[in-house]
Amino acid sequence: MLHLLCVPSGCTVTDVFYQKALQQKFEETVLVASSEALVGKTRMQGIRAVTFDALANAVAEQCSAQLRDRLVVRRISRKAQELILQDILDRLLEKGRLPYFGRLAGKKGFVQSVASMMEQIGSCGATAEEIDTAFAHWDGRSPAYRQKDREIAEIYREYLAYLIQNNIYDMAGLYRVAAEELAALRKAGGAVTWKTLYFTGFYRFDALQLTIIRLLSQTCDVWIALPYESGRPELYGAVEFTYGDLMQYAKQERLPAVPVSGRAASLRHIVRNLRNPGMKPAPADPGIEIWQLPDENEEMRAVLREIKQQLRGQTIKPSEIAVVVRRMEEYSGIRDLCDEYGIPIQAEDSAALAASPVFRFVAAILETASLYGREKAESWIGFLTQPLQKIVLELSTETVIQLAETNYYTDYRKFLADVLEKTGREGLRQLWQEIEAIPAETTIQDYCDITGRLLSLTEIPEKAGRLYREGQITLAGFKNMVCACREIFSLLQKMPQDYRFCRSARQTTDCAGFAEALADAAGKMSFSLQPENREGIAFLSAVNLEDAVFKQIYVLGLRENEFPFYKDENWIYDDRERTDLAVLGITLPSSADGYGEDIHFFMNACAAATERLVLTFYADEEHNASPYIAEILSLFTDLKVQVKTTETAAADSLSREELELALARDGQTEALKKLEPGLAESAGSDRKRLQKAAGWNGNPDDATLLQRISRQIGDRFSASKLETYRSCPFQFLVTYVWQQKAAEAAGEDMDPMQRGSLLHRVLEKFIGRHLGEKLLQAQHAELQQELDEIFDTVCQEYADKGWLYPGDFWQHDKEQQRILLQRWLRSEIAYSEQGEWRPVSTEQSFGKKGKEEFTLDINGRRIYLNGKIDRIDRAGDAYFITDYKSGDTPNKKAFADTDLQLPLYLLAAAMQNGGNVAGGGYYSLKDAERKESFMFPAAADTVPWKTFSEAKDENGTATAVTDMEDLQATLQRVLGDMLDHMREGDFSPTPSKDCERNCPAAEICRFRVLTRNREEEDPNG
Ligand code: SF4
Repeated sequence: MLHLLCVPSGCTVTDVFYQKALQQKFEETVLVASSEALVGKTRMQGIRAVTFDALANAVAEQCSAQLRDRLVVRRISRKAQELILQDILDRLLEKGRLPYFGRLAGKKGFVQSVASMMEQIGSCGATAEEIDTAFAHWDGRSPAYRQKDREIAEIYREYLAYLIQNNIYDMAGLYRVAAEELAALRKAGGAVTWKTLYFTGFYRFDALQLTIIRLLSQTCDVWIALPYESGRPELYGAVEFTYGDLMQYAKQERLPAVPVSGRAASLRHIVRNLRNPGMKPAPADPGIEIWQLPDENEEMRAVLREIKQQLRGQTIKPSEIAVVVRRMEEYSGIRDLCDEYGIPIQAEDSAALAASPVFRFVAAILETASLYGREKAESWIGFLTQPLQKIVLELSTETVIQLAETNYYTDYRKFLADVLEKTGREGLRQLWQEIEAIPAETTIQDYCDITGRLLSLTEIPEKAGRLYREGQITLAGFKNMVCACREIFSLLQKMPQDYRFCRSARQTTDCAGFAEALADAAGKMSFSLQPENREGIAFLSAVNLEDAVFKQIYVLGLRENEFPFYKDENWIYDDRERTDLAVLGITLPSSADGYGEDIHFFMNACAAATERLVLTFYADEEHNASPYIAEILSLFTDLKVQVKTTETAAADSLSREELELALARDGQTEALKKLEPGLAESAGSDRKRLQKAAGWNGNPDDATLLQRISRQIGDRFSASKLETYRSCPFQFLVTYVWQQKAAEAAGEDMDPMQRGSLLHRVLEKFIGRHLGEKLLQAQHAELQQELDEIFDTVCQEYADKGWLYPGDFWQHDKEQQRILLQRWLRSEIAYSEQGEWRPVSTEQSFGKKGKEEFTLDINGRRIYLNGKIDRIDRAGDAYFITDYKSGDTPNKKAFADTDLQLPLYLLAAAMQNGGNVAGGGYYSLKDAERKESFMFPAAADTVPWKTFSEAKDENGTATAVTDMEDLQATLQRVLGDMLDHMREGDFSPTPSKDCERNCPAAEICRFRVLTRNREEEDPNG
């Protein structure tokens, strides 16, 4: 029998389940919990508890034991799954069966995407035949997409066949076998040995889990607690499917769902009324606060400062406070900040295995064995100069460096002979022999054994222990080495098991291949350096808050895209395709499901607080406050956002860094000197800069230097060059005079500029084919396909030119860009149908040297302007110019002030197109709409979108710009002022919020006293 309990927000039935379970025999009852934490908590009550995975395993074993022989379920790891899939991809590729995925099949990251796709298909309970049938009935697919479907179906079929053939299971396979064994047992009239099962902490089950639950409920009593209220569909979107499925055969029970006691009135109001259609706003009380901070660092500091003050005042215990975020990996610095403030925290201090010195040591050994010639000599030099060699070989790395600097070694043997002669370290001779004996090619198993033996030979744990006892290394350093050794040994044992089922286990590989596989596996591992402090404040993800209760909760990162977190499920099938597949009976998770889950997580975070809930965020040009902030504000009549900053006076400092900053700001040199040598000097230079002392203010006054700067600036300007000066003259100096560029981190993901350029190119090609045309809704499907094809072609062009790396990151990103373009097309059709404006040109350049010169005479000086207009539309004899923006669009208040591009382009278009330019504006690709469009007043009603007609006059008052002449006069005034300042040598930094991002001058303008966000040293490095 299945009993379903719908638990309203802010209530729990876990205790009721505990009481019921305790009244039954231990071996006849199991509580199935959603997390290991809940399993642990339940076991502490003396009740048997397992996760769903463990239950499925137990079901499969128990049923098979009753039916025949006990089935031993061999679960494979995710890595093994990927290796098996890579084998399948390679095989299909060889046979020429992957024309659609062929180019991607060998690319890094592709197999991970396929593995996640297989997992999603598996979890929806579909068999290979069902997938074939669904794809066969999928109407409206283009030939290319049909090929993609065929390939996915074949990979899935091959993958399932492989698992069955080898009698191994992935997670979906384990659930499937549990369901099959259970069904067989039922058919044979048998039953499981449990009398009652309780499920708690879950908000959804996938199709296979639901099958298992249904079959279990036919053989024993199953009680499920599900968070659900029928009157709040907007809150329970993520639960709806599970609720609907269970209600087909469940008996709805009405056990008392116990509300958390002692909850503040405002918090009760939130849990009862968030997304409740009948909600009436109520007055707020101190139980709820919303804080806005200038940036992420200040957000964390503001929260930790307040926690520290409360702990000092002993008004609350640390374990009664929780700091909650959506994704913990984005707050890895919080542990160090807690240490800075001396706040105990329940979060493990962990280190990445791949970054540990011991792993780097092992990787260097494998590298020396893989290379030849000068490269091999270089790799030996790198290996012997690793700091860890002081411990392992007791080698003077300084001597090695000296040798390497005075000789150009092409033969590593000569280098090693010289090191041996100079240092006399016999250990090196033995290590050398061992490394020489590493075979150039062998199996993964052999390489693991050899690497393990070499690592044992180094005796790192023993040597580190001795040094720690002698006080030569810290406890953290000692732990890092010992734990890293332990993790590497365990990895070397696990790797052959992962490879056991794939072709590479039987085949040999070379040493470089093995080193790469080892680094890949280590890249995903971390190890714990410090056990959790159970008495500390909790640091938790909102995802794991089922049944959690704290007096105070601080929810950080309530920003767009962070919480709720936009999760792109898997690029192989986008959301639109997933919707189609759901109609065909294949229910794959979609991004919309992610939003449904996130509101559930947010509600759990709110419901976990009993006395006080503090919601914090910061907004910047990229992301605003989370929509949840507006939802909470709307629940109250008088709740206000508190704008905070953490700048403090020296006397109020709560950490050493705060004290340093406060002393520096106050110019307390003596106090700073006592804190740390050199600190007073750095603070002094910052103060000089702040006080605009000569030499520190960005205003060169030497006449010769000024002349040279002026020459370097020249008389040719683009809009962005002028805008840079307008927003920060110091950045202009560094960019256009010193010609420095912001350093860009190399990475697989595409940088925003490149992404913007790709979108521009697609739109140029698409619009270029439809000049003069009215686009109609009736043509939408056809235009959509055309746009998609252009997009794919341009992406390929960019990949071929090496402007993008078509790895996993890009594949995710690509589908996002495709969606963005699809949304753009819908808007474009709507605009086209509503008005008479038709595109007449794209990417029209002006001001190239000697061609289409565009000049302005300003204060007796002639300047030359250049640029490219993305698009020009025409209606009758009037023109309208458009600039596409993939990021944010400039505000209309900035027109002819910091936004110089639009007015300049209007003037240029008027010059090139002979007169009647009615206006122009931006087209936001992010928001798929035309924004901030300027129109001269006489033409204001001629476009079907919002426009403005004003610019600031010399007094800063918004005044209508009547015609092109008026616009030119406005521009000449603004540019004249700027050119005068440039001539006088005014290059002072003018900081604004977040201006240091991508600014090549950020490291030298030092616009913050003792830069607040300085990089934390990696304590594990
Ligand atoms: S970081 Fe900001 S203040 Fe400093 S130069 Fe760049 S833009 Fe100007």
